[in-house]
Amino acid sequence: MAAPKRTPDLNTVYTINDDGSRNMLQVADVKGRWTTRKYIMYGLLILVYVLAPWIKIGGHPMILIDIPKRAAYLMGATFTNQDFHLFFFVLIGMGVLLFIVTSLFGRVWCGFACPQTVFMEGVFRPIERIIEGRRLARIKRNKAGGFDKTWRKLLKHAIFIFLCWNFAIAFMCYFIPTREMLHLVPFFSGDTTALVWSLFWTGLLYFDYSWFREQTCLIICPYGRLQSTLVDYDTLIIGYDKNRGEPRHKGIEAGGDCIDCHRCVDVCPTGIDIRNGLQLECIGCTNCIDACDDIMDKIGKPQGLVRFDSSRGFETGKSRPLLRPRFLIYAVVILALGALFVTRATKRESFQVVVMRSQGLPYSIENGVIRNLYTMHLQNKSDVEQIYFIRPADGALAGHEGVEYIIPQDRIVLEGFGDRQLTFFTMMPKSSYSLAEDFHFTFTDSTSGVTQDIKVRFRGP
Ligand code: SF4
Ligand code: SF4
Repeated sequence: MAAPKRTPDLNTVYTINDDGSRNMLQVADVKGRWTTRKYIMYGLLILVYVLAPWIKIGGHPMILIDIPKRAAYLMGATFTNQDFHLFFFVLIGMGVLLFIVTSLFGRVWCGFACPQTVFMEGVFRPIERIIEGRRLARIKRNKAGGFDKTWRKLLKHAIFIFLCWNFAIAFMCYFIPTREMLHLVPFFSGDTTALVWSLFWTGLLYFDYSWFREQTCLIICPYGRLQSTLVDYDTLIIGYDKNRGEPRHKGIEAGGDCIDCHRCVDVCPTGIDIRNGLQLECIGCTNCIDACDDIMDKIGKPQGLVRFDSSRGFETGKSRPLLRPRFLIYAVVILALGALFVTRATKRESFQVVVMRSQGLPYSIENGVIRNLYTMHLQNKSDVEQIYFIRPADGALAGHEGVEYIIPQDRIVLEGFGDRQLTFFTMMPKSSYSLAEDFHFTFTDSTSGVTQDIKVRFRGP
């Protein structure tokens, strides 16, 4: 007797067989209003994800993390490693924003905007369908084997590798300035490191989009596991209306509206049955909504047996307004983080200078003169060359008889994002010294005229 056909349940992961092998899904095609909206969104986002490093705002890349230069560009602003603390606000802000969106609309990020879904469903899955046919044709051909299957698979994988190579290069543009990338592609001649990285990312993307697919969402991505803590009774989720659908039955006669046609399962890219309730594997892609609406149209029943609604709505038929206390708390947190970020980011100086007493003795005495040695670290935080001048602040030495300073280089030229370490001395006759005191020096950026006043402590016996 043949083993019963396996169907998705709540106790096992449908995409993994009992023996641990992979149960490769053959996802069915679907059309409908949500699918149309999604494809428009995917098209726009693919453009954004690929072109973002090429777009310039205020002469700077919209987004670039320049690791060799230890600098980053974000929406026209420039950040160096000294500004790294500001990314705390950005990362926490993005996390809280994701919390807000999830608490209101469930996993819309996963279904509509996550690059994993956008490229899988917007690029690779459609190509697979064009070359290998629709679900049933694919299943039949995979079973039959032969030349017809082989040439289609070879063609599909060749196109996948070509696309992955291009997406890998597009991804690397987030870390290598585009003008440098233009010199490197297509063969990365002369830059073995970039070549190795491009091969690594190509391989990783190819592995992901050709084979691993939904396993990335189920196994690797932590966001799905957080879902249960982020959604509440009033969050909009994709669900099945049990009150209306049950008892399910084959055919359109008596019972609930679900005719157990399995379409909502066949179109699911993570292989779950939405009728089993909200599950970790659901990425909110809306395929099951469109699939079921299509079936409802065909059998003359109202759409919406599977739909966006809150758990409260599914149970009672009445949903609460979207704006709830939890949302307001998140909103206050994100506004506070945003305000802090803007305040700190706009108050940043175009250069940073740190002066410290040199290691070793706090002072030395030579021929009756006390000498203090300092180490100065100057960093240009802009991406263009700058000239800096160092001198004692106005009146800093007034009233200090015999005080001198030696700055080996009082005019310093620093390339964009460059930094320099220098030493300088302050000297005072021992006879003039009574107590430790502070001297002020000014560091001036010749381009902007911005001046920073730095205090150094003079010590003696
Ligand atoms: S598509 Fe709709 S009718 Fe068909 S099994 Fe799913 S919920 Fe039932
Ligand atoms: S259950 Fe529906 S919304 Fe969730 S992943 Fe499957 S098809 Fe997409």
